Amino acid sequence: MKVLVATEKPFAKKAVDGIRAIVEQAGMTLSLLEKYTQKEELLVAVADADALIVRSDKVTREVIQAAPRLRIVVRAGAGYDNLDLAACSERQVVAMNTPGQNSNAVAELAIGMMIFMARNQFQPGTGTELRGKTLGVHAYGNVGRLVAGLAKGFGMEIYAYDPFIPAPVMQSEGIHVAATLEDLYRRSDYLSLHIPANKETTGSIGQALLSLMPKGACLINTARKEVINEPELEAILAQRTDLKYATDVAPGNMDALKAQFDARVFATTKKMGAETQEANINAGLAAARQIVGYLQKGDKTFCLNK
Ligand code: NAD
Repeated sequence: MKVLVATEKPFAKKAVDGIRAIVEQAGMTLSLLEKYTQKEELLVAVADADALIVRSDKVTREVIQAAPRLRIVVRAGAGYDNLDLAACSERQVVAMNTPGQNSNAVAELAIGMMIFMARNQFQPGTGTELRGKTLGVHAYGNVGRLVAGLAKGFGMEIYAYDPFIPAPVMQSEGIHVAATLEDLYRRSDYLSLHIPANKETTGSIGQALLSLMPKGACLINTARKEVINEPELEAILAQRTDLKYATDVAPGNMDALKAQFDARVFATTKKMGAETQEANINAGLAAARQIVGYLQKGDKTFCLNK
């Protein structure tokens, strides 16, 4: 059986070595397609693959159709908006992600961004401290929970909003539960976004919520660009000259934002939340183990298209 690792942005070598060891120990073969630039290269490579590991690579209907033997695709990472789940289901291809494996990397970046913005992007001038400020955690999943834990160490007061996590769970971890989403934004000196991009959340963060934030507040987005209503973000930054925005997922209008708002906005040059050696290795190895677990034992833990 052939496991294909198809990565426009390759894994670290140590991760590839680890994936190979797991796959070969299970009696399967590993095939690599790295740094490809044309979709056609992926379409050719999947033709004889039984299993596929990707990172942010798009697994479209066309890719699934080009892979007649494919039984499982694993997104090595958390967000799986790059997988066409309906197309997978139609062909009975199991789709999985590797939740939690890169969360610490993203959480550390979110905290780093808060400090960076509090200190005027490390430019000369008087900054502020995180201690005593209120952090709003929008979605208390794997990343949100870790951000909250780290922020406690900085002496921040933490509120969270996540309708899918029971309040007692958050409270038992020392987190205040925001009564509503509006309540969360109203309180947050820093608001860290950790919602997935889906039908409900796309474009959901705009003027209505951002206008509620306290004076000098900063929105940190390590989630997805799609959750932001970009024109409304631009409008509120123009209206509220005290607001700041830092993101790991640059908006389409980043050049316009930078030109107008300069030190109040920041975007990483390329999405780098999960770009640590540790996260690379954790997510890659987890993907390989999940493939072996499914193909050999039918283990469907982390299956996204049940
Ligand atoms: P997760 O699945 O562990 O957690 C997501 C949380 O969102 C869950 O607790 C869920 O209950 C909650 N949620 C879902 N819909 C919601 C809604 N409408 N309102 C409030 N809460 C809602 O995911 P995660 O691993 O914590 O990842 C969080 C986000 O970070 C995702 O958008 C993911 O794509 C993104 N991410 C980015 C990077 C990066 O490189 N910057 C890396 C990993 C993950």
